[in-house]
Amino acid sequence: MGAVIIDGKAFAAKVRGEVAEHVARLVAEHGVKPGLAVVLVGEDPASEVYVKSKGKMTVEVGMTSVEHKLPADTAERDLLALVARLNADPEIHGILVQLPLPAHLNSELVINSIDPAKDVDGFHISNVGLLGTGQKSMVPCTPLGCLMMLRDHHGSLAGLNAVVVGRSNIVGKPMAQLLLGDSCTVTIAHSRTKDLAAVCRGADILVAAVGRPEMITGDYVRPGATVIDVGINRIERDGKTKLVGDVEFASCAAVAGAITPVPGGVGPMTIACLLANTLTAACRANGLAEPKGLTA
Ligand code: NDP
Repeated sequence: MGAVIIDGKAFAAKVRGEVAEHVARLVAEHGVKPGLAVVLVGEDPASEVYVKSKGKMTVEVGMTSVEHKLPADTAERDLLALVARLNADPEIHGILVQLPLPAHLNSELVINSIDPAKDVDGFHISNVGLLGTGQKSMVPCTPLGCLMMLRDHHGSLAGLNAVVVGRSNIVGKPMAQLLLGDSCTVTIAHSRTKDLAAVCRGADILVAAVGRPEMITGDYVRPGATVIDVGINRIERDGKTKLVGDVEFASCAAVAGAITPVPGGVGPMTIACLLANTLTAACRANGLAEPKGLTA
């Protein structure tokens, strides 16, 4: 195995440390304590785990964490009213409505009711448009985390060929926009792409965001390429539940120059970037300089 393993867990801890330092300065010098509100509707066990861990890490970096847990049968107007209250609350700089929402709620309507300046998930249509036109926006956390790791590993990304497999609104498309913003030559591949392996072999940077366990194998990877595995898939193997990515780690690591593992790669960066986005939102709301290295 020749590839450098990109340690997302360590990188995320470093990012959280930088966020914490910046937060301490904001509080001491400007009396501004960033606040993040997370709204959870219903009792999805995976979402509850995410929300708990987000709350814990928010407090650890010195920010205010507010959790709103609403019953699964919450009426849309009540959820919208809560978002409106959070939009108007000067102590709250970031609002995250945990997805997926129960089926009777219109996710797009709810997400687009968040003040775009507080939309730390970067899913509001205004932020999508700002990112697409290369303007200052709130950037979705998972692709932002991937970008930070790539910049850290490569320095400049300019001129590199990037292939993003997956075109979802939460990962694939914003990832492609961010790579384009850093002057990569970007290809977005998806389920209708012809000869996906050949397309992927053209990549200096290969990002897999497919949702199919271990689909990307070593024969998709150009020797020396950097492979970023966004996938989180739970599979049964040898009678045990195991977490695997969209990338078959062993065969890809044998060919790649660098690779993110699952777990311990992209996953930990997502919450770190949520905290970075909340800090950025608090700085912008108060007309203060944004944290360096923590934004797109
Ligand atoms: P989606 O299901 O929304 O999108 C998957 C994309 O993969 C689609 O664009 C689809 O193409 C494409 N695809 C599916 N099958 C193939 C195939 N055989 N060949 C080529 N492309 C294919 O997934 P998400 O973007 O939401 O998530 C992707 C992965 O990332 C999942 O494993 C998810 O769990 C993980 N994830 C991890 C996060 C983290 O924090 N690390 C955060 C968010 C997601 P088409 O559009 O044509 O259907």
